[in-house]
Order: sequence, then C-alpha cells, then structure tokens
Amino acid sequence: MSSHVLTAVAWPYANGPRHIGHVSGFGVPADVFARYQRMIGNQVLMVSGTDEHGTPIQVQAEKEGLSTRELADKYNRVIVEDLAGLGLSYDLFTRTTTNNHYTVVQNIFTALYENDYVVAKTSLGAVSPSTGRTLPDRYIEGTCPICGYEGARGDQCDNCGNQLDPADLINPVSRINGETPEFVETEHFFLDLPAFAEALTAWLKTRKDWRPNVLKFSQNFIDDLKPRAITRDLDWGVPVPLEGWRDQPMKRLYVWFDAVIGYLSASIEWAQRSGDPDAWKQWWQDPEALGFYFMGKDNIVFHSVIWPALLLGHNGKGDHGGTEGVYGQLDLPDEVVSSEFLTMSGAKFATSRGLVIYVRDFLAEFGPDALRYYIAAAGPENADADFTWEEFVRRNNSELANEWGNLVNRSISMAHKNNGEIPTAGELTEADDRLLTASRAAFDTVGDLLGKRRFKNALAEAMRLVGLANAYLSETEPWKLKDDPARRDTVLHVALQVVSDANTLLTPFLPHAAQKVFEALGGEGVWAAQPQIRTVSQDDGPDYPVLMGDYTTQQAVWESRPIVAGTVLDKPKPLFAKLDAELGRTGPEWAPIG
Ligand SMILES: [Zn+2]
Repeated sequence: MSSHVLTAVAWPYANGPRHIGHVSGFGVPADVFARYQRMIGNQVLMVSGTDEHGTPIQVQAEKEGLSTRELADKYNRVIVEDLAGLGLSYDLFTRTTTNNHYTVVQNIFTALYENDYVVAKTSLGAVSPSTGRTLPDRYIEGTCPICGYEGARGDQCDNCGNQLDPADLINPVSRINGETPEFVETEHFFLDLPAFAEALTAWLKTRKDWRPNVLKFSQNFIDDLKPRAITRDLDWGVPVPLEGWRDQPMKRLYVWFDAVIGYLSASIEWAQRSGDPDAWKQWWQDPEALGFYFMGKDNIVFHSVIWPALLLGHNGKGDHGGTEGVYGQLDLPDEVVSSEFLTMSGAKFATSRGLVIYVRDFLAEFGPDALRYYIAAAGPENADADFTWEEFVRRNNSELANEWGNLVNRSISMAHKNNGEIPTAGELTEADDRLLTASRAAFDTVGDLLGKRRFKNALAEAMRLVGLANAYLSETEPWKLKDDPARRDTVLHVALQVVSDANTLLTPFLPHAAQKVFEALGGEGVWAAQPQIRTVSQDDGPDYPVLMGDYTTQQAVWESRPIVAGTVLDKPKPLFAKLDAELGRTGPEWAPIG
C-alpha cells in the first residue's frame, strides 16, 4: 500500500546566491529521500520556495541599488536555476511573495486570532526625533544585548541569530542619519506560545523516532516559552488581515511567521497548478500521511515547536480550545530531519569572510552529481563536516571515477566489443551466485537505511556492492577468457546485471549519472526525472519562475530489474571525469579561500 509522504524542505532566503553549505543542509538530503520514496511507490509531495520577506532582503536591496521587489526577483531566479541544476526534484518550488501565499498566511493568522491565540501588546517602537516618523526595524542598528555584536539590527542579530526588539539594542542609532531614535509605545501582535506548551509536550511524547538531542532541545524550548511577536514595524511583508491594520504601511507580519506557513501554501499552490485544487489535503489532513521536514540545525525549533504550535492553534487544539480554521485539521510534522553545518577548512561558511563556494560556480565546473555524491558521502548528516578540495578530488577520483565509473565502463565496453549486445548467461558458478545474491539483498539494506534517513550509510552500502562487482571482475578476468566465450558471456552478463542493480541503488544520489547508465545499458525514455523551470502566472500579480516536474512517469523502481540478453550495447562514454590532483591542493581559481 502506498503512503502519502510530504517532503517539506527548508526555504532558502533570497538575499543572495546559495553556497554549497546551504544545499548540503537541506536540499540534497531531502531530494535523495524524495527520490527513494517515489521509487518504492509512495506518493511524494516535495515543496519549498524562496523566503523573500524581512529586513535582510531590504538591506541587501539598498546595497545593490535595487528595489526590494527587484532584489527578491533576482535571487529567486538565481536560486531556482541553481536548484534545478542540482536536480532537486521539487513538485513545486515557489516563493513567499505570491498572492496565494499571502492568502494562506492571512487565513492562518485569522484562525489563530479567532481562537484567541494572538494577543495585542504594546511594546516600544522607534521614531525619528527629527521627522517624528516611525523608523522601520532595519534602519536601527546597535550592539546586540546578547552577544555584543556591534552591527545588530532592530529585528535580529546576524551574529548570534537571536530575535531582537529595537529597544533592546545597546546604543541604538538610525542608519538614515545617525541620530539616536526615540522609543514610543506601539501596538503589536504576539503569538501566545505558552498556551501550546501542554499540547506540544503531549505531542512530543508521541515522537518515538526522533533523535534524543532534538527531543531534548525542543522540550527545553517549550519549558521556557514566551509570547512571540508576529508583527513588526516593517513595510515589506504580508499585511495583517484586520480592520485598522490591513492598510497600515508600517505594520506587517513577521517574516518567520509567514515563511514557516510556506509548506502549506506551496502545497495548496501545487494542487491548484496540478488541476485538482483539493489534492493537497491528502498530505495534510489524512492522519496516515507522513510529513518529513528537512533543515539545518539552526532551524530545528521552528519545525519542532513553532510550526506545530501554529498548526495546533489553527486546529483549535491549544489551552484556549477553539474551532478549526478554513484548512480543517492539519497534520503536525512526523519527522524533523536536521543536519549539522558544513564548514570549509574549519570555518563556518559566511559570504562576508570570503569563505564561500557558490552552488552556481560548483555546478558549472564539476556538474551536479559530483557535488551530490560529496554531500551524501561526506556531508554534515549527523556531525559538522569540513569541506576540503583535497577530499573532494579524492572522492571524485577514487570513488566516483575509479570505482563506479570504471565498473560501468569496463563491463559495458567488454560486452560491446565482444558481443555488441548484452550476452546470455550460461550455468552460474558459486561466485556468480554469491555476487547476484548480494546485489539483490542490497535493495533491502540500502532501502532500509534510506527510509531511516541514514544517507551516508546507505550510500556506503551501495558502494560496497560496487566494490564487490569490481573484485568479481578482477577475480574472473573475463578479458582473459578468449578461449571460453560461453564463460566470458556469463561473467559479463552477471557483471552487467550488477551494474544495473547498483545503478538503481545509486539513482537517488546520482540521478543524472543514473539516466546515462540506464541508456548505456540500452534503456529508452526517462529513468530518473528532473525538475523543470516553468514560468507561471497568477491573478493580479506578476508571472514568476517555479520548479515543477513530472516524476510519476519515470521508470526508476526500487527493485532488481532483470537485464535482457540481446539488448544492443553501444560503446560507452566515461561517466565521470577525473580531476587534476593539483586542484586538491589549490582549489579552483574562482574559489576565494580566505
Ligand atoms: Zn547577537
């Protein structure tokens, strides 16, 4: 029986191009998982988009001399192209500045408001003493009261990541003219998070599979819940859908609040675009449906506490009870899959320090599968991982090119040269049987690990089969069997069957190479489908690019697919290029290693 599996992927922030640290934390692991789930016959809905509100977008726009909208458009497109290039198989990758997203966010706000989970409070807002006007948060800078960072902004500190109020800053100044702002009372809405503490605790107790550290971290957070601001003095964001608020240019919903609702709004948009507007409900309202959320470790509480609280409030399930909102009873996350950080030569990736490798540069030089392989094999799955060029070159050359590429190449080359087609197998020896048995068994072992999101181990198991096949060829030496063509044919048939199996096992990790191997073995049509960039339109708004794909007609299925003797084989092309060892010492010229 197939299940509905929501694959909810963290939303990249659209204030610049993404570096390989970003995609190793959420993009590649989520895609490997989604591709595997599709291959075992589950109904996958993989959604995300660019997160485009908040002050950092406005600050970056000012820096680049663009309007906020122009900046969001620019990096939305860059990110869409990068994720398409990596082959991330989103059913929909959209953005937070769509009319649909605004509607869904406002509907969730309304449900929370009507159920009494949103409370108005006065706090201190900044005003310019010389003009008397409200100063948006982004125009206030000062020293962070938590970490002492001097360039903290009125809404958050970029150094420690804490959410701030402008009045919290030490020595606040206006970025417009350097004057010290005055603080006057202003009204804002707060989410009554403490009203969900009991429901969240009860729900967390049902999360048996979560990693203990994620559970503990989340429970500690719940024990200390405070009301959290959901509106800001800001002119770029979703308007507050209430009389007296809707038209205020300086009051918007906070970016964290709108972005996390994106998982739902993107699912609804996908359903509308797929022609069945109610289709999203199968992933959100059916308690049997599964929801997996992929993110970096700095985002855990948004997915393990805050998003579940919003869903509970919409469902009318906190301390104040209430009635369910327009979207019915929505499912809470089943699994929060967080990864650690990718560092480079020991330092955290940061654009400001010049320690950055952009996805775009990487793809242009090395193609998508080399990066996907590195991230799956050596990425920050359960501990911080360090990216080094030396390790990248070593893995590319010794594992991808020498182990996997070489197995594919020599097996198909020999069969092409000797037979021109897939040869027929005669009687099998014990060694033949042993390898074929290991190959069939790998579908269970590798699949079990993928289902548990243990990607690194799953990849290692698949590569172990590749190693066994290489050892088998070294032992059987088919190139020496000129005088025994029947035995040679059997060996090559066995080797090609294992190439086909290993290719299936590697498909979630290396979908581009998998398509080529499938074709090299005589396959026709789409083995592993790729996302496509489409331009879509909306009512009363500009067109925009999205990623979508048709993954239902691809041929990749998680099972051993018997190869057919007599299938014509062409001379194969090398699957992976070997990299110059010098690259491992210096890195490419475009990488500004600081
Ligand atoms: Zn700070």
